[in-house]
Formats: sequence, structure tokens, C-alpha cells
Amino acid sequence: MSLPIAHCSVALGLVGSRSTRLWTAVAFLALLPDFDFALVRGLGVPLDEFHRTFSHSVVFFAFLTLLWSAVRERLLPTLSCGLFFLALFSHSFLDTLCTADANDHGVMLLWPLSSIRLGWAVLVPLYRPLADSPFHLQGAFLFFLLECVLAYPLWAAVRLVKRLSTESGSEREPSTLDAF
Ligand SMILES: [Zn+2]
Repeated sequence: MSLPIAHCSVALGLVGSRSTRLWTAVAFLALLPDFDFALVRGLGVPLDEFHRTFSHSVVFFAFLTLLWSAVRERLLPTLSCGLFFLALFSHSFLDTLCTADANDHGVMLLWPLSSIRLGWAVLVPLYRPLADSPFHLQGAFLFFLLECVLAYPLWAAVRLVKRLSTESGSEREPSTLDAF
């Protein structure tokens, strides 16, 4: 149910740097899983069966991260493999919190190991009073306005969680995730 603004806000909260290239890359990764929409339209397969399947899976994210590790130094060394993976994962995580009906629209987070669709309607009460779906002009516009309002709180919440996790781990050895 969430739109690009919410996905980007959450993922960009993970980025400590002010690098425009890094922000652009992370925003792109935050939206990448929903490119399965293009395949749905191109192949003509039913949206409900195909959307939020392989492209939203941690196995798919791990595969892409492996590919990224091979080209990272040449393309964008500041985009660590940890941040690359988490930017992708943030998309599916947010989708699971915006799922009104897990059976119909839940996320296949564990595909191909499991076809179970996961979803919890944690954020749905924010959207539901506005519209049932973003797939019509009025719903899309209202969701867009809501996410403009939510953008900063979402970003700040992720920054806070990241900061607290960094502080709680300050006495341990620095990890890959501490690099961003
Ligand atoms: Zn999605």
C-alpha cells in the first residue's frame, strides 16, 4: 500500500552521508522491488499472483548484494554491501507493515524457500480512512499527501533506531553496518 515517498524515506534514514550519488542509489534500491509491476504489465500475468513475490524476497536481495559486491569498488565504493541489502530489505519490511490482507497482498519474504505471504496491518489504519487502494486517481493522490506528511517522521524514526543501535554497540568491534 505504501508509495515511493514512504519507501525512500525509510531507506534514506539508513544513510549517514550527504552524498547525492549515495542518496540517489539508495532511493533507487528502495523502489527496485516494485519493478515487478513492469513485468506484470509486460507479461500480462495477474497482479495479485506475481506482485510481492520473488522481487521482494531476501534471497533475491542477497543475490543482488552478491552481484553488487563484485562491482562496488568500481561503481560506488561508499555504498557498502550492508547498506545495499538493507535498502532493498527496507522496501519489503515496509510493505509487510502496510498489508491489509496477508493472503492476498502479503510479501513472499522467504521465496523460494517458502511461498507464505507475510503481512501485518500496522500502518494500514493510517491509509484506510483515506481510500481503499492507491490504484485510482483519488486514492493515489490522498496516499501521496499522507506520505508527504509521514516522510520526515519515517526518516527520523529510522535515524533514531540506527543511532540507538550504533550507540548500544559502541563497545564492540565496528561492523560493516557501522560504516554508513
Ligand atoms: Zn513492494
